[in-house]
Amino acid sequence: MQIFTKTDNLIKYLDDFSNKTKGFVPTMGALHGGHLSLIQKCVKENDISIVSIFVNPTQFLEGEDFDKYPKKIDADKKICSLAGVDILFLPSADEIYFEDEISILAPKIKGYILEGHKRPGHFNGVLQVVLKLLNITRADNAYFGKKDAQQLYLVKKMAKELFLRINIIECNIIREDSGLALSSRNSYLGQKEKKDALLISEALKKATQMVAKGEKDVSNIKREISKILNTLKVEYIEITDRDFNKIDTIEQGNTRILIAAYVGLTRLIDNVEV
Ligand code: AMP
Repeated sequence: MQIFTKTDNLIKYLDDFSNKTKGFVPTMGALHGGHLSLIQKCVKENDISIVSIFVNPTQFLEGEDFDKYPKKIDADKKICSLAGVDILFLPSADEIYFEDEISILAPKIKGYILEGHKRPGHFNGVLQVVLKLLNITRADNAYFGKKDAQQLYLVKKMAKELFLRINIIECNIIREDSGLALSSRNSYLGQKEKKDALLISEALKKATQMVAKGEKDVSNIKREISKILNTLKVEYIEITDRDFNKIDTIEQGNTRILIAAYVGLTRLIDNVEV
């Protein structure tokens, strides 16, 4: 596995592989089984696989956990190397960002609902860095998790609307046996908090069961989820169609149920497609 910290060096190195298919997995590190599933798919489906680890400052808001975001670089290198990754890119912020630079803006509606409502400007930073990383790697295929469903939707939208030559590959959410969606931020959780965090996936499971039994009324499902989450500080419980439009009635096969909630000081998100 080749490790690069300098953008120019990586770009030069990749010039030699222009006839190979390249797959790319952007991450913020502290890799877990969710990341690994994207990486394994990437390694399998491409001649050359590239993983980046970059805790992107521009997607964190003032007061969020940028400074204490978990870092496990030695373990991450091992995971990537064992998974058969060819190139690991570990840039510093000054390898990615310039002074007074051109920026890209998230869409005014879909970039400012749900996560974008609670974290205004977050998706500007996400799209800015993803576009840069896609251009640096010139990947054919880039892998994103459904765990961050709105991010995935917006990256796909950007790829389409900016006519990027990239396939955005959607990857399923990986969960612990308990149901808890894997997340780097789970490492913030104490034992009791981890138990509390299970309520989120339990609520999504219950909602899925209600839909399977024929419940179509969004407000009934939201009410049930609220009841299950009543001990947490809920940021949102939302039910939308697959394009993130608000709905009142469930259309099976075209619906998302999304939750963001604090467990103690840790903000967790999860969602299901029904
Ligand atoms: P992050 O390091 O949190 O920025 O995540 C990097 C990528 O891994 C994103 O595309 C995430 O959606 C994806 N990811 C994170 N957690 C999971 C999970 N539990 N299952 C599947 N994909 C995930």
